[in-house]
Amino acid sequence: MPNPKRKHTRSRRDLRRSANSKLEAVNFVECSNCGAARLPHNVCPKCGFYDGKMVTEVKVKKAKTQEEAK
Ligand SMILES: [Zn+2]
Repeated sequence: MPNPKRKHTRSRRDLRRSANSKLEAVNFVECSNCGAARLPHNVCPKCGFYDGKMVTEVKVKKAKTQEEAK
């Protein structure tokens, strides 16, 4: 069996491994109800609609009152 004569450097190894990877842009589609950008096949995070129906209620972030912060 032929064998490599010398060990490749970490740099050379990592360059080879990184050559086949690249960042891919996330795909967004427009929500049919509110028009916000959402991921395909996912419930809209803004209005909670999916396939034209209300699926989940969107939680509204509570603003911390001063009494809660104490
Ligand atoms: Zn929406």
